[in-house]
Amino acid sequence: MQNEKDLWWENKRYHTLNWELRNHFGQKIFKIPLDAGFTCPNRDGKLSNQGCLFCSSRGSGDFAGDRKLDLPEQFTQVKEVMHKKWPKGKYIAYFQAFSNTYGSAGHLRQLYDFALNQSDVIGLAIATRPDCLPEDVLDLLSELNQRTYLWIEIGLQTIHEKTAEAMNLKYNFADFKRTLAKLQVRNIRTVAHMILGLPGETCEEMLQTGEILAELPIQGIKIHLLHLMKDTPLAKIYEKEPFPFLSQENYVDMVIKILEKIPPDVVIHRLTGDSPRRTLIGPTWSLNKWEVLNSIDSKLSDRNTWQGRLASIKA
Ligand code: SF4
Repeated sequence: MQNEKDLWWENKRYHTLNWELRNHFGQKIFKIPLDAGFTCPNRDGKLSNQGCLFCSSRGSGDFAGDRKLDLPEQFTQVKEVMHKKWPKGKYIAYFQAFSNTYGSAGHLRQLYDFALNQSDVIGLAIATRPDCLPEDVLDLLSELNQRTYLWIEIGLQTIHEKTAEAMNLKYNFADFKRTLAKLQVRNIRTVAHMILGLPGETCEEMLQTGEILAELPIQGIKIHLLHLMKDTPLAKIYEKEPFPFLSQENYVDMVIKILEKIPPDVVIHRLTGDSPRRTLIGPTWSLNKWEVLNSIDSKLSDRNTWQGRLASIKA
Protein backbone atom coordinates (compact mmCIF):
# COMPACT_ATOMS: atom_id res chain seq x y z
CA MET A 1 0.00 0.00 0.00
CA GLN A 2 1.23 3.47 -0.84
CA ASN A 3 2.50 5.43 2.14
CA GLU A 4 0.08 8.23 2.92
CA LYS A 5 2.99 10.66 3.14
CA ASP A 6 3.93 9.94 -0.47
CA LEU A 7 0.75 11.70 -1.44
CA TRP A 8 1.70 15.01 0.10
CA TRP A 9 3.22 18.01 -1.59
CA GLU A 10 5.94 19.82 0.38
CA ASN A 11 4.29 18.88 3.67
CA LYS A 12 0.94 20.11 2.39
CA ARG A 13 -1.96 17.80 1.87
CA TYR A 14 -2.80 19.50 -1.38
CA HIS A 15 -0.92 20.12 -4.62
CA THR A 16 0.31 23.69 -4.21
CA LEU A 17 1.39 25.94 -7.07
CA ASN A 18 4.62 26.51 -5.16
CA TRP A 19 5.33 22.78 -5.21
CA GLU A 20 4.39 22.51 -8.86
CA LEU A 21 6.70 25.34 -9.92
CA ARG A 22 9.63 24.06 -7.86
CA ASN A 23 9.10 20.61 -9.27
CA HIS A 24 8.91 21.92 -12.84
CA PHE A 25 11.73 24.47 -12.72
CA GLY A 26 13.85 23.20 -9.80
CA GLN A 27 13.84 26.60 -8.12
CA LYS A 28 11.72 29.33 -6.56
CA ILE A 29 9.38 31.06 -9.02
CA PHE A 30 7.32 34.18 -8.32
CA LYS A 31 4.33 35.61 -10.09
CA ILE A 32 4.46 39.31 -10.92
CA PRO A 33 0.86 40.58 -11.01
CA LEU A 34 0.38 43.21 -13.71
CA ASP A 35 -2.28 45.67 -14.81
CA ALA A 36 -1.71 45.96 -18.55
CA GLY A 37 -4.44 48.59 -19.07
CA PHE A 38 -7.20 46.24 -20.22
CA THR A 39 -10.89 46.71 -19.67
CA CYS A 40 -13.65 44.09 -19.87
CA PRO A 41 -16.67 43.62 -22.17
CA ASN A 42 -18.80 43.46 -19.05
CA ARG A 43 -17.65 46.93 -18.04
CA ASP A 44 -17.09 48.88 -21.25
CA GLY A 45 -20.67 48.62 -22.49
CA LYS A 46 -20.23 45.74 -24.94
CA LEU A 47 -22.14 43.40 -22.64
CA SER A 48 -22.90 45.79 -19.78
CA ASN A 49 -21.46 48.80 -17.95
CA GLN A 50 -21.96 47.33 -14.54
CA GLY A 51 -19.46 44.47 -14.47
CA CYS A 52 -19.81 41.36 -12.35
CA LEU A 53 -21.46 42.72 -9.23
CA PHE A 54 -18.54 41.80 -6.96
CA CYS A 55 -15.84 43.20 -9.26
CA SER A 56 -13.73 45.95 -7.70
CA SER A 57 -12.81 49.17 -9.47
CA ARG A 58 -9.43 47.56 -10.21
CA GLY A 59 -11.00 44.73 -12.17
CA SER A 60 -10.23 42.07 -9.55
CA GLY A 61 -6.56 43.02 -9.72
CA ASP A 62 -6.30 44.87 -6.44
CA PHE A 63 -2.73 43.74 -5.84
CA ALA A 64 -1.60 44.03 -9.45
CA GLY A 65 0.88 46.67 -10.54
CA ASP A 66 -0.13 50.31 -10.64
CA ARG A 67 -2.17 50.97 -13.79
CA LYS A 68 -0.69 54.46 -14.01
CA LEU A 69 2.75 52.93 -14.55
CA ASP A 70 3.73 51.28 -17.79
CA LEU A 71 4.61 47.59 -17.83
CA PRO A 72 8.40 48.07 -17.56
CA GLU A 73 7.92 50.21 -14.44
CA GLN A 74 5.49 47.70 -12.91
CA PHE A 75 8.00 44.92 -13.52
CA THR A 76 10.86 46.85 -11.98
CA GLN A 77 8.88 47.75 -8.86
CA VAL A 78 7.87 44.18 -8.04
CA LYS A 79 11.16 42.60 -9.06
CA GLU A 80 13.17 44.92 -6.83
CA VAL A 81 11.21 43.76 -3.78
CA MET A 82 11.40 40.07 -4.73
CA HIS A 83 15.04 40.20 -5.68
CA LYS A 84 16.08 41.34 -2.19
CA LYS A 85 14.44 38.27 -0.69
CA TRP A 86 15.22 35.70 -3.41
CA PRO A 87 18.15 36.93 -5.53
CA LYS A 88 18.03 33.81 -7.69
CA GLY A 89 14.26 33.74 -8.18
CA LYS A 90 12.65 33.62 -11.62
CA TYR A 91 9.30 35.07 -12.61
CA ILE A 92 5.97 34.40 -14.24
CA ALA A 93 4.39 37.55 -15.66
CA TYR A 94 0.83 37.46 -14.42
CA PHE A 95 -1.66 39.46 -16.49
CA GLN A 96 -4.22 39.77 -13.73
CA ALA A 97 -6.40 42.90 -13.75
CA PHE A 98 -9.56 42.96 -15.90
CA SER A 99 -9.85 40.68 -19.00
CA ASN A 100 -6.36 40.08 -20.30
CA THR A 101 -7.29 38.65 -23.70
CA TYR A 102 -9.73 41.45 -24.54
CA GLY A 103 -7.92 43.07 -27.45
CA SER A 104 -6.70 42.36 -30.95
CA ALA A 105 -4.33 39.43 -31.35
CA GLY A 106 -1.67 41.88 -32.58
CA HIS A 107 -1.90 44.05 -29.47
CA LEU A 108 -1.92 41.02 -27.19
CA ARG A 109 1.14 39.61 -28.94
CA GLN A 110 3.04 42.84 -28.25
CA LEU A 111 2.16 42.80 -24.57
CA TYR A 112 2.91 39.12 -24.00
CA ASP A 113 6.15 39.31 -25.97
CA PHE A 114 7.24 42.32 -23.98
CA ALA A 115 6.68 40.40 -20.74
CA LEU A 116 8.50 37.32 -22.03
CA ASN A 117 11.48 39.43 -23.07
CA GLN A 118 12.08 40.70 -19.52
CA SER A 119 15.08 39.14 -17.83
CA ASP A 120 14.35 36.11 -15.64
CA VAL A 121 10.75 35.76 -16.91
CA ILE A 122 10.14 32.07 -17.60
CA GLY A 123 6.41 32.04 -18.28
CA LEU A 124 3.05 33.74 -18.45
CA ALA A 125 -0.21 33.51 -16.55
CA ILE A 126 -3.15 35.21 -18.25
CA ALA A 127 -6.53 35.76 -16.56
CA THR A 128 -9.65 36.25 -18.65
CA ARG A 129 -13.35 35.51 -19.16
CA PRO A 130 -14.74 32.48 -21.04
CA ASP A 131 -16.18 34.72 -23.77
CA CYS A 132 -12.94 36.60 -24.53
CA LEU A 133 -11.05 33.94 -26.47
CA PRO A 134 -11.79 34.19 -30.20
CA GLU A 135 -10.01 31.84 -32.61
CA ASP A 136 -7.14 34.19 -33.51
CA VAL A 137 -6.39 34.76 -29.82
CA LEU A 138 -6.54 31.02 -29.19
CA ASP A 139 -4.05 30.56 -32.03
CA LEU A 140 -1.75 33.12 -30.42
CA LEU A 141 -2.01 31.35 -27.06
CA SER A 142 -1.33 28.04 -28.74
CA GLU A 143 1.85 29.46 -30.26
CA LEU A 144 2.91 30.92 -26.89
CA ASN A 145 2.23 27.58 -25.29
CA GLN A 146 4.82 26.01 -27.60
CA ARG A 147 7.52 28.42 -26.58
CA THR A 148 6.93 29.21 -22.92
CA TYR A 149 5.35 27.97 -19.71
CA LEU A 150 1.75 29.16 -19.91
CA TRP A 151 -1.31 29.13 -17.68
CA ILE A 152 -4.67 30.55 -18.77
CA GLU A 153 -7.01 31.44 -15.92
CA ILE A 154 -10.72 31.43 -16.69
CA GLY A 155 -13.37 32.90 -14.41
CA LEU A 156 -16.23 30.51 -13.86
CA GLN A 157 -17.22 31.43 -10.27
CA THR A 158 -20.34 29.23 -10.24
CA ILE A 159 -21.96 26.52 -12.33
CA HIS A 160 -25.42 27.81 -11.35
CA GLU A 161 -27.25 29.84 -13.97
CA LYS A 162 -29.41 31.71 -11.45
CA THR A 163 -26.31 32.96 -9.61
CA ALA A 164 -24.49 33.82 -12.85
CA GLU A 165 -27.49 35.93 -13.83
CA ALA A 166 -27.93 37.48 -10.38
CA MET A 167 -24.23 38.43 -10.29
CA ASN A 168 -24.39 39.84 -13.86
CA LEU A 169 -21.52 37.64 -15.08
CA LYS A 170 -22.89 37.69 -18.66
CA TYR A 171 -21.52 34.21 -19.31
CA ASN A 172 -22.57 30.84 -18.00
CA PHE A 173 -21.29 27.34 -17.36
CA ALA A 174 -21.93 26.29 -20.99
CA ASP A 175 -19.66 29.15 -22.19
CA PHE A 176 -16.99 28.02 -19.74
CA LYS A 177 -17.13 24.40 -20.92
CA ARG A 178 -16.93 25.42 -24.60
CA THR A 179 -13.86 27.55 -23.94
CA LEU A 180 -12.25 24.90 -21.78
CA ALA A 181 -12.64 22.39 -24.62
CA LYS A 182 -10.89 24.77 -27.04
CA LEU A 183 -8.01 25.26 -24.61
CA GLN A 184 -7.68 21.54 -23.94
CA VAL A 185 -7.54 20.69 -27.66
CA ARG A 186 -4.52 23.01 -27.74
CA ASN A 187 -2.98 21.45 -24.59
CA ILE A 188 -3.04 24.78 -22.78
CA ARG A 189 -2.88 24.54 -18.99
CA THR A 190 -6.14 25.96 -17.69
CA VAL A 191 -7.04 27.23 -14.22
CA ALA A 192 -10.71 27.58 -13.26
CA HIS A 193 -11.74 30.24 -10.75
CA MET A 194 -14.66 29.62 -8.42
CA ILE A 195 -16.14 31.68 -5.58
CA LEU A 196 -17.62 30.37 -2.35
CA GLY A 197 -20.12 32.63 -0.59
CA LEU A 198 -21.97 34.23 -3.49
CA PRO A 199 -25.32 35.52 -2.16
CA GLY A 200 -28.33 33.35 -2.90
CA GLU A 201 -26.36 30.10 -3.09
CA THR A 202 -26.68 27.34 -0.52
CA CYS A 203 -23.58 25.51 0.70
CA GLU A 204 -24.74 22.48 -1.30
CA GLU A 205 -24.79 24.56 -4.46
CA MET A 206 -21.33 25.95 -3.75
CA LEU A 207 -20.00 22.44 -3.20
CA GLN A 208 -21.60 21.34 -6.47
CA THR A 209 -19.51 23.89 -8.37
CA GLY A 210 -16.34 22.42 -6.85
CA GLU A 211 -17.45 18.85 -7.43
CA ILE A 212 -18.37 19.43 -11.07
CA LEU A 213 -15.09 21.25 -11.71
CA ALA A 214 -13.28 18.26 -10.22
CA GLU A 215 -14.72 16.14 -13.03
CA LEU A 216 -13.60 18.47 -15.82
CA PRO A 217 -10.24 18.42 -17.63
CA ILE A 218 -8.72 21.41 -15.84
CA GLN A 219 -5.09 21.53 -14.71
CA GLY A 220 -5.53 24.10 -11.95
CA ILE A 221 -8.14 25.66 -9.68
CA LYS A 222 -8.45 28.84 -7.64
CA ILE A 223 -10.98 28.78 -4.85
CA HIS A 224 -11.94 32.26 -3.71
CA LEU A 225 -14.05 33.50 -0.86
CA LEU A 226 -16.50 36.22 -1.82
CA HIS A 227 -15.03 39.49 -0.60
CA LEU A 228 -17.60 42.22 -0.43
CA MET A 229 -15.75 45.36 -1.43
CA LYS A 230 -16.76 49.00 -1.08
CA ASP A 231 -17.69 50.75 -4.33
CA THR A 232 -18.99 47.59 -5.99
CA PRO A 233 -22.57 47.14 -7.23
CA LEU A 234 -22.89 44.26 -4.75
CA ALA A 235 -22.04 46.60 -1.85
CA LYS A 236 -25.00 48.81 -2.82
CA ILE A 237 -27.30 45.79 -2.80
CA TYR A 238 -25.89 44.75 0.58
CA GLU A 239 -26.55 48.22 2.03
CA LYS A 240 -30.25 47.90 1.24
CA GLU A 241 -30.59 44.20 1.87
CA PRO A 242 -27.73 42.67 3.87
CA PHE A 243 -26.99 39.03 3.14
CA PRO A 244 -25.04 36.64 5.37
CA PHE A 245 -21.31 36.08 4.95
CA LEU A 246 -19.78 32.64 5.22
CA SER A 247 -18.15 31.90 8.56
CA GLN A 248 -14.50 30.89 8.56
CA GLU A 249 -15.45 27.41 9.83
CA ASN A 250 -17.93 26.93 7.03
CA TYR A 251 -15.49 28.15 4.40
CA VAL A 252 -12.68 25.89 5.62
CA ASP A 253 -15.05 22.93 5.75
CA MET A 254 -16.20 23.49 2.14
CA VAL A 255 -12.65 23.98 0.87
CA ILE A 256 -11.66 20.64 2.38
CA LYS A 257 -14.68 18.86 0.90
CA ILE A 258 -13.82 20.27 -2.54
CA LEU A 259 -10.12 19.40 -2.20
CA GLU A 260 -11.03 15.81 -1.43
CA LYS A 261 -12.82 15.59 -4.78
CA ILE A 262 -10.15 17.33 -6.89
CA PRO A 263 -7.77 14.89 -8.61
CA PRO A 264 -4.24 14.98 -7.17
CA ASP A 265 -2.62 16.20 -10.39
CA VAL A 266 -4.72 19.39 -10.46
CA VAL A 267 -2.67 22.31 -9.13
CA ILE A 268 -4.23 24.41 -6.36
CA HIS A 269 -3.37 27.97 -7.31
CA ARG A 270 -5.19 29.59 -4.43
CA LEU A 271 -7.40 28.73 -1.47
CA THR A 272 -8.19 32.22 -0.25
CA GLY A 273 -8.41 35.62 -1.87
CA ASP A 274 -6.73 38.87 -0.94
CA SER A 275 -8.46 42.16 -0.54
CA PRO A 276 -7.20 45.51 0.68
CA ARG A 277 -8.24 46.18 4.29
CA ARG A 278 -9.44 49.70 3.47
CA THR A 279 -11.97 48.50 0.89
CA LEU A 280 -13.23 45.28 2.46
CA ILE A 281 -16.72 45.27 3.95
CA GLY A 282 -16.71 41.58 4.85
CA PRO A 283 -16.19 38.91 5.87
CA THR A 284 -13.48 40.56 7.96
CA TRP A 285 -12.01 37.24 9.18
CA SER A 286 -10.62 36.85 5.66
CA LEU A 287 -8.06 39.58 6.36
CA ASN A 288 -6.14 37.03 8.39
CA LYS A 289 -5.16 34.95 5.38
CA TRP A 290 -2.53 32.91 7.19
CA GLU A 291 -4.95 31.90 9.88
CA VAL A 292 -7.34 30.64 7.20
CA LEU A 293 -4.61 28.69 5.42
CA ASN A 294 -3.31 27.26 8.71
CA SER A 295 -6.82 26.24 9.64
CA ILE A 296 -7.20 24.38 6.31
CA ASP A 297 -3.90 22.57 6.96
CA SER A 298 -4.76 21.61 10.50
CA LYS A 299 -8.30 20.45 9.64
CA LEU A 300 -6.97 18.33 6.75
CA SER A 301 -4.60 16.76 9.24
CA ASP A 302 -7.24 16.31 11.98
CA ARG A 303 -9.51 14.55 9.49
CA ASN A 304 -6.58 12.62 8.03
CA THR A 305 -7.64 13.56 4.55
CA TRP A 306 -5.99 15.13 1.46
CA GLN A 307 -6.59 16.38 -2.06
CA GLY A 308 -7.96 13.66 -4.25
CA ARG A 309 -8.91 11.24 -1.48
CA LEU A 310 -12.46 11.10 -2.82
CA ALA A 311 -11.70 11.94 -6.45
CA SER A 312 -13.02 9.75 -9.25
CA ILE A 313 -9.40 8.88 -10.01
CA LYS A 314 -8.12 8.26 -6.52
CA ALA A 315 -4.75 9.39 -5.14
S1 SF4 B 1 -15.12 39.50 -15.95
FE1 SF4 B 1 -13.54 40.04 -14.47
S2 SF4 B 1 -12.94 42.15 -14.95
FE2 SF4 B 1 -14.87 41.73 -16.03
S3 SF4 B 1 -16.42 42.54 -14.64
FE3 SF4 B 1 -16.22 40.35 -14.22
S4 SF4 B 1 -14.71 40.20 -12.56
FE4 SF4 B 1 -14.56 42.27 -13.43
